[in-house]
Amino acid sequence: MTRLSCPDCRLRFGKAATATLTTCPECGQDLESVGSAEPTLGLRLFAPADSPPALPIAVAAAVPIRPELA
Ligand SMILES: [Zn+2]
Repeated sequence: MTRLSCPDCRLRFGKAATATLTTCPECGQDLESVGSAEPTLGLRLFAPADSPPALPIAVAAAVPIRPELA
């Protein structure tokens, strides 16, 4: 598994970020590809600033009963 890291920022990138990123979002340099987890030990896992969208919440709704359909 290919892992990406930015040694200058001491960041490592998870699988999802690896699929979309080619440059470091912090410094803009090309990411370094490493073959094993060892070189990335101690590096901070990159967390995107955008939080994932909130999960849908069930909403109760009052619906008028239509006697003609019952
Ligand atoms: Zn960087």
